[in-house]
Amino acid sequence: MAPTPALADRVRTTKPSAIREILAVTSRPGTISFAGGLPAPELFDTEGLRAAYDAAFARSARRALQYSTTEGAPELREAVAARLHGRGLPTCADDVLITTGSQQGLALITTALIGPGDAVLVEDPTYLAALQGFALAGARLIPVPCDEEGILPDALEEIVARERPKLLYTVPTFQNPTGRTLPAARRAAVAEIAARLGLWLLEDDPYGDLRYEGRALPWLAAHPGAEDRTALLGSFSKVMAPGLRLGWLRAPAALLRAAVLAKQAADLHTSTVDQLATAEYLRTVDLDAHVARVRDAYRIRRDALLAGLGAALPAGSTWNRPEGGMFVWARLPEGHDATALFREAAARGVAFVPGAPFFAGTPDPRALRLSFTTHTAEEIEEGLRRLAGA
Ligand code: PMP
Repeated sequence: MAPTPALADRVRTTKPSAIREILAVTSRPGTISFAGGLPAPELFDTEGLRAAYDAAFARSARRALQYSTTEGAPELREAVAARLHGRGLPTCADDVLITTGSQQGLALITTALIGPGDAVLVEDPTYLAALQGFALAGARLIPVPCDEEGILPDALEEIVARERPKLLYTVPTFQNPTGRTLPAARRAAVAEIAARLGLWLLEDDPYGDLRYEGRALPWLAAHPGAEDRTALLGSFSKVMAPGLRLGWLRAPAALLRAAVLAKQAADLHTSTVDQLATAEYLRTVDLDAHVARVRDAYRIRRDALLAGLGAALPAGSTWNRPEGGMFVWARLPEGHDATALFREAAARGVAFVPGAPFFAGTPDPRALRLSFTTHTAEEIEEGLRRLAGA
């Protein structure tokens, strides 16, 4: 018998996610995990969602179980548009495509814009599954230098002029993995550079609603010059539940049409029943009140992590203090290695994610990402004691 033909080059050359492998190690019972960015399951509004599914079935079971349009259920597109509008971004339902998680939005924009060899700019470090998606498309990934506040506009301008990229991918608010937020003046500068030099912006914002202090900043998409060149991704994962797999894409008309075409080929449409139940939920429950409760709980958890990190990490370590989101980004002192520490920590029943895989440029072996949303403050304190032992 002859062997089967080889897998496509794109999957043979793309590395599996380091985080999925770490999650496998840390799924052991009793482990306290600062690793995965998992929302706290005890904060899911399980009763509210169950009632919304019941109502969606009672009202229109046949429709809920039927094929539907690629663009998404009209009432959910309306509800998403109204939320964006209410936060200062003029949006109508036709500007919005419902996606199977914001992860699918990333894939659709990649299919719509990126061919083999096209240059894509990314923050350094950045979201791992975005790096994977761009790599699968054959993109040439170019890291943009960042400091504690994110992208350095002068460096961005110089790279755009030199490399002529198609796209900048950015998570400007409470970034994964660093928790960093791009300040207002830099947002305006990035939008201006994109407009002047000709660049698409892919603005990924799954964390913006999880703000524990400080004032909300406008989306890049709302800036003069960026309106006609920004694809904005949003998600119900962090404010409702990630298992719903519901997100959205807001984009200029031509790009949205291309994304709809790509989605037809990918999955025809996002689950009708999940869309109708979520639309029902948004109609009958005050999501903002629910998010306020989640924020209050997460603020306490963030503060517990920040209060104990100094005693847990080796002297000379540094870390930031994000105003929202799920992650703290830390750096061990000279001579330490986060991957070596991870092994020690895992053996003691505590986990985090070494930072190196998040870099498109030169990895920092001393960096690590700690998520604070999954466990209570007491569990966080115990996790930090184990980390100190490691
Ligand atoms: N973008 C970023 C920056 C993320 O951190 C995540 C989830 N970890 C996603 C997109 C995907 O989220 P979802 O598909 O659940 O909306």
